[in-house]
Amino acid sequence: MPRKPLISPTKITTYLACPVKYGWTYLDPRGKWYLKSKSYYSFGSTLHKVLERFHDSSDTGVTTVGEALTLYEDSWIDAGYGSAEEMAEAFGEGRLIIEKHVAETLERKDETKTLFVEHTVKMEFEKFILQGRIDRIDELPDGTLDIVDYKSGRSGVSADDVAADLAMSCYQLMLQERYPDRKIQATILALRSGQRASTSLSPVDMQVFRNDLEWIGNEIIATQLSDHVPAKKALCPNCDFLPLCSKDQNWQDS
Ligand code: SF4
Repeated sequence: MPRKPLISPTKITTYLACPVKYGWTYLDPRGKWYLKSKSYYSFGSTLHKVLERFHDSSDTGVTTVGEALTLYEDSWIDAGYGSAEEMAEAFGEGRLIIEKHVAETLERKDETKTLFVEHTVKMEFEKFILQGRIDRIDELPDGTLDIVDYKSGRSGVSADDVAADLAMSCYQLMLQERYPDRKIQATILALRSGQRASTSLSPVDMQVFRNDLEWIGNEIIATQLSDHVPAKKALCPNCDFLPLCSKDQNWQDS
């Protein structure tokens, strides 16, 4: 029996933003030649790497501010920056973020336990498998499982932002299926400020979200390259695939 296709929150978000972009990214091999390095991906990957090792209780190599900063320097990715000055500014900012985050975590004296870091979760639907990777899963003192997602580009965050984040709803759904008796919540941690906000899907909202997810997932796995034509939209000026789409007559006419 053929394996079911995998769908991730990133794939769904890309498809919803622009199905043609989804096609260039996941279906048409020409698309990969147009992908550019992005400084915010490089910056976020470096921070994630350091936080993963710091919060991993089985990893005893990164337990102090000094060790975290050494790892930060060793893990720095320099791709995608427009100039040496821009990169130096980002490097300094990232250093401060790590220093503050690690120092505050070490000072905090609560009973929160980190259960998993960079943890892959899956959920099987009739025609596809939903798969995601969660930055961190904490167990709070009252037994709630807290899905923590790092946002390296953000200074502020609200509960509404968490509620509107498709990936956070996917993770709640997947974790609730695995732990049906536990309360699940999702938290976004805005790394630039240390601000955090949390929310939980109600059982009714979770069922509605599951149904919507299945519907859009089925549409995505059935999508063929010829199903969608490029059309101008607000995303286009900053899209890597603009050189491809702008050659298309449909895009020019739209
Ligand atoms: S250039 Fe515009 S139409 Fe083409 S993939 Fe990007 S967002 Fe979609």
